[in-house]
Amino acid sequence: MKFGGTSVGDADCIRRAAEIVFKAAKEYSVVIVVSAMSGVTNRLIAAAQQSAGGSREESVSLPAVLLQQHTEAALSLINDEGIREGLIAELNRITTEVGNLCHGISLLRELTPRAHATVSSIGERLSARLMAATLREMGLKTVAVEATEVIVTDDQYLQAEPVMQQVRERCNERLRPFMNDGITPVVTGFIGATPDGVLTTLGRGGSDYSATTLGAALDADEIIIWTDVDGVLTADPRLVPSARLLREISYNEAAELAYFGAKVLHPKTLRPVVDAQIPVWIRNSFAPEKVGTRITTVGHPTEHGVRAITSIPNVSMITVGGRGIVGVVGVAAKTFQAVASVRANVLLISQSSSENDICLIVDSADAASTLKALRAAFANDLVHHDVDHITVNSHIAIVAIVGDKMRGAPGIAGRTFSALGRSGVNIIAIAQGSSEFNISFVIEAEAMRDAVAVVHEEFKLHEVGQA
Ligand code: ADP
Ligand code: ASP
Ligand code: MG
Repeated sequence: MKFGGTSVGDADCIRRAAEIVFKAAKEYSVVIVVSAMSGVTNRLIAAAQQSAGGSREESVSLPAVLLQQHTEAALSLINDEGIREGLIAELNRITTEVGNLCHGISLLRELTPRAHATVSSIGERLSARLMAATLREMGLKTVAVEATEVIVTDDQYLQAEPVMQQVRERCNERLRPFMNDGITPVVTGFIGATPDGVLTTLGRGGSDYSATTLGAALDADEIIIWTDVDGVLTADPRLVPSARLLREISYNEAAELAYFGAKVLHPKTLRPVVDAQIPVWIRNSFAPEKVGTRITTVGHPTEHGVRAITSIPNVSMITVGGRGIVGVVGVAAKTFQAVASVRANVLLISQSSSENDICLIVDSADAASTLKALRAAFANDLVHHDVDHITVNSHIAIVAIVGDKMRGAPGIAGRTFSALGRSGVNIIAIAQGSSEFNISFVIEAEAMRDAVAVVHEEFKLHEVGQA
């Protein structure tokens, strides 16, 4: 079971989450994964960045702010003096550590990926102890575990990839013995460590991925991701208030939605569980009586085709164009080699022969470095005008419609683009994978909200009855 930031956002939320765990632990062997209290990771990253700018302020103020926030929750949740004292000593130790880290960063005026990861991990290290102490207060046998001991990863410190075989071994060594003794482990989400013990993070929102990684390594019967919405909805409820719950979707559908921006799941969440076919549930920790969404191999295909719609703001389109682009072997290879050299994640690719260009969409944070790499790779071609221009447009968004049964259903693209056309939304680029369960398109950033609403309406996603 994983609890997200809002599900452990304050004392009341933690109490509610702990009750869910307490009930489950009476019936099953459970492993808990917790995120930082909501807002804490953002706060930590901002502090690290300010410290890197030379500010000394954060190293003093941040430990006090975090200590107060967590102690306040602790005092409200825990009456037992022994548990309380032990917990507060731990909270003190960890918040002091973050102060020292920020101080070091401010002296060096440099924020390395390792330091960035270490500072951003503090929230989970605090919340796991808080949750474990709360469960202990309720009478459950429990232990807080640092994921650095169990989630072995590569050394991409801010986007680390778990090494499954080693995670399995560590889980058997470090978690199973507790479980066999009836002790519930509470593991820090979001973080891992390289084989030699250097802390890494799995990327923002990565606690979902921590949960499925541990679930797969432990051969769990099921994984439950507790969050602040009823499950996976037909669209982001912040964009489409009439979005409706999907009772059952497939791994494919969920993965496409996550990849194309549905924040409810980290994009890599489903990777560890697909082969073992472990069902993943998304449920509301604020309304645990509701069933939530079940994610399985087959999902629940409707006749309808389109199941959900999602969008990603803050992306940039880079276009490599010129007459030398068409028919020349190796241009695409050179383009993507350059992109890969800066580790930019390409979200969408589209090539047009008539306009002589290749366009690719990357996260806006990667746009500058990608552009630089491309201009270097094509320096010669630019001089000879085989490539005329390499440009970037940062005022765009991607929208994607997803559904397993879109495959082989004619007319879906036509309906989508007609509806958008009627609403005056201009389409800049389109991509459909050959798998046919996703059509994605690029539009002006300002049109994103309207586009999502128009397509949701066109396919009447708010109406479809779900079994
Ligand atoms: P947690 O802190 O529990 O990990 P997140 O904030 O990361 O929660 O993800 C949950 C949020 O995802 C919801 O509050 C909702 O606003 C957003 N969201 C975006 N798209 C969807 C969708 N299709 N279905 C459900 N929630 C979505
Ligand atoms: N706390 C981390 C973040 O905010 C991980 C997570 O919440 O899943 O990115
Ligand atoms: Mg999340």
